[in-house]
Amino acid sequence: SGKWTRTMAILREFEGKCATPISKLRQVADAMTVEMHAGLASEGGSKLKMIISYVDNLPTGDEAGLFYALDLGGTNFRVLRVQLGGKDTRVVKQEFEEVSIPPHLMIGTSDALFDFIAAALAKFVAEEGEGFHPAPGRQRELGFTFSFPVRQQSIASGSLIKWTKGFSIEDTVGQDVVGELTKAMERIGLDMRVAALVNDTIGTLAGGKYYNQDVIAAVILGTGTNAAYVERAQAIPKWHGLLPKSGEMVINMEWGNFRSSHLPLTEYDQALDVESLNPGEQIFEKIISGMYLGDIVRRVLCKMAEEAAFFGDTVPPKLKIPFILRTPDMSAMHHDTSPDLRVVGSKLKDILEIPNTSLKMRKVVVDLCDIVALRGARLSAAGIFGILKKLGRDTVREGEKQRSVIALDGGLYEHYTKFSTCMESTLKELLGAEVTANILIEHSNDGSGIGAALLAASHSQYL
Ligand code: ADP
Ligand code: MG
Repeated sequence: SGKWTRTMAILREFEGKCATPISKLRQVADAMTVEMHAGLASEGGSKLKMIISYVDNLPTGDEAGLFYALDLGGTNFRVLRVQLGGKDTRVVKQEFEEVSIPPHLMIGTSDALFDFIAAALAKFVAEEGEGFHPAPGRQRELGFTFSFPVRQQSIASGSLIKWTKGFSIEDTVGQDVVGELTKAMERIGLDMRVAALVNDTIGTLAGGKYYNQDVIAAVILGTGTNAAYVERAQAIPKWHGLLPKSGEMVINMEWGNFRSSHLPLTEYDQALDVESLNPGEQIFEKIISGMYLGDIVRRVLCKMAEEAAFFGDTVPPKLKIPFILRTPDMSAMHHDTSPDLRVVGSKLKDILEIPNTSLKMRKVVVDLCDIVALRGARLSAAGIFGILKKLGRDTVREGEKQRSVIALDGGLYEHYTKFSTCMESTLKELLGAEVTANILIEHSNDGSGIGAALLAASHSQYL
């Protein structure tokens, strides 16, 4: 029937526009490398901010004492305490707690958000029990993981450049987020010093390196996406300070803001961007990360409903609601292995209020999930390949056996198996068998929390 012809035409056209053949991925990786150079050369020289983190030493294993960490990411924030025992005992004990952020605080005032965070932290500190030993007479210290673009002024200060991932609180922009947190802690009477302000990618890099000294980069695939890596200080022309003793500097790429004419963008991506809280920004993030994948699928389904009467004569009203189809639900449909695609059927019914879908219709939905997820996964692999190229680790050098480990974290990577599997196999495809043998992707489970605590330890006021 005409309905099917039109539906399949929309599907095939979308698939074509999303195509990521290896040749295209190589162009994307090369563009990423070019932008990395440009961002390191001068402030504002690229869409990639290539932020200097002021972290010029990564954990060694000698860190000791009780430290706290706070991780403000996207949907949740985590608080963590860890008792570090130094070289031999390492992590003696750790505890963490996760708190979800009430949506109204994501678009409210700076004070309201930071008061909420400080209150949760204070409650957590009050529950400090056996096995944790604060040094008598000393202030507790905290590593603050803040996963939004910050212009870092020192290891423990930095001003917010902009919110991303659905946050929009005007009065925080331009403010020192450590100052905002410190003021909120003072208001509530919590005596705690922020010793390090880090991005989640930096935290993940530090946490990864603590367990494996071959870690050279970290990538987050969660609500948003970003990457950080260890750069030679000499290779950062925009850095005018003293060269660090280590000769190295960790760079927070803010790769979510990458864009290139080589990116396969569709009309749906364009519409999503225009209607977003940050139009024109975070284009790479908007086609890769967990906040957006489900909504891209929804947009194509909506088009099928409107122009091909895919769900019948009327467009199901729920289908018009932005972000109603979340990436975890998309993932559940994509991984549905039941012969009648039962999970797809029930998700369509429960979330979009579309009852009685045929198997044929459900298959179209799965195809859509496949197209959107695999495009994101393959582009993430291209980004990682770009970093390896920048570092000259995309080839095997004569007589050299350098291992490169990339620490990966984030809910999308962790839970969306088809996404992570495709990302890893695409990276292998880009690297080739010989180089692949020296490159390892390691899941750094919540490494950013422990990483932030470790960086607080190495920047303690009592050292
Ligand atoms: P954040 O990025 O906010 O710091 P996480 O790293 O925990 O937090 O990532 C959470 C994101 O991961 C969610 O917003 C969602 O997009 C994605 N996610 C979580 N669970 C799943 C899942 N089962 N399948 C696919 N994506 C998931
Ligand atoms: Mg996070």
